[in-house]
Amino acid sequence: MRIAIAGCGQLARMLALAGWEMGHHFSFIADPDESTDCVAGLGPVVARDDYHEPPALFEALGRPNVVTVEKEHVSVALLEGLADHCLVAPSPEAIRICQHRGREKTALQNLGINTAPFQLLEDGPSLLTAVEALGYPAFVKSCEQGYDGQNQWLLRDPDSLAALAAQMESLPPLVVEGAVHFDRELSMIAARSVSGETALYPLAENRHREGILLTSEVPAANISDETQAQANHIARTLLEQWSYVGVLSIELFDEGGALRVNELAPRVHNSGHWSQDAGVTSQFSNHIRAITDTRPGNTQPALYAGMMNLLGREPDAALLGAADVNLHWYTKSVRSRRKVGHINVQAKDRARLQQRLAELEAALYPEGEPL
Ligand code: AMP
Repeated sequence: MRIAIAGCGQLARMLALAGWEMGHHFSFIADPDESTDCVAGLGPVVARDDYHEPPALFEALGRPNVVTVEKEHVSVALLEGLADHCLVAPSPEAIRICQHRGREKTALQNLGINTAPFQLLEDGPSLLTAVEALGYPAFVKSCEQGYDGQNQWLLRDPDSLAALAAQMESLPPLVVEGAVHFDRELSMIAARSVSGETALYPLAENRHREGILLTSEVPAANISDETQAQANHIARTLLEQWSYVGVLSIELFDEGGALRVNELAPRVHNSGHWSQDAGVTSQFSNHIRAITDTRPGNTQPALYAGMMNLLGREPDAALLGAADVNLHWYTKSVRSRRKVGHINVQAKDRARLQQRLAELEAALYPEGEPL
């Protein structure tokens, strides 16, 4: 099949690398000014701005059988236009919901799925009223274009609220969240095929540094049956209620075993990269399988698996020479804090996995140094 991907970053690269193995061909839609380094050599790149009408874009993409996305910030109107010509998976509607924190939280609430307590500021309360109702500390997030902690503000007291209110002359659409006092952050990667077959990966435990994902460890430690059942229920509810097609990523807060959804991503996710080297069907392969209506492959690793992001740095040869380490390099230029690759590692037991992640972290991110 021919598959077109909206976006040209590392997720598009890894989707295409997985899909090439299955005999698929790829083309890519580039936004203005978007770097296409990651997908160089993997298929034709079409500049979105050169084609204002969906039929012309569809032709330029090589008449794909399926259009998919590697990011949520894609024009929904464009995807709806392409949907007149071929399957668009996930659906434009699922992408529209996940583009906007307010719509996403409301959709979760309507499905009975727990989130942080929140108020939307679009046509409701003022910033002041919302923060007063939810209490301090409060997280204020812009509804659109926020990721890795960007476009969000942590308000600890009335002074920081006043400073933020003064800084924003006219408020963009915002959501205010009460703080969740979580023990840890988890995520689940879930997939559903066109025919409705589903597959769930084990919960990953994620650690961040300066607001950016640094490591994922799979399976997350000490997950009770009840917590696992909650995670499965959340994932299956979303996949089935939305008739979702492809990989859906679910970021979760774990508060004493009770789960709340922090955020959804209608795509493959950084916290699922471990799956490339853990003896399972990777999230990339399963996304391609799902959107080409192939039953998802195995998601349950026999080993313990970990992932460490390479943020603004290249690993040295000694580190890469270790037998249990696999490098995934995105062919981007290295800039401070930028995700330029990741390393996957596997171990027979959890203690060894944690030891290896600690050793890799010490080598790559010397203590005390900022990213
Ligand atoms: P986000 O961009 O929504 O994923 O938020 C980035 C990070 O901020 C999360 O990974 C959490 O560590 C933290 N965070 C966001 N929202 C909340 C909240 N309501 N309560 C506590 N921590 C939060």
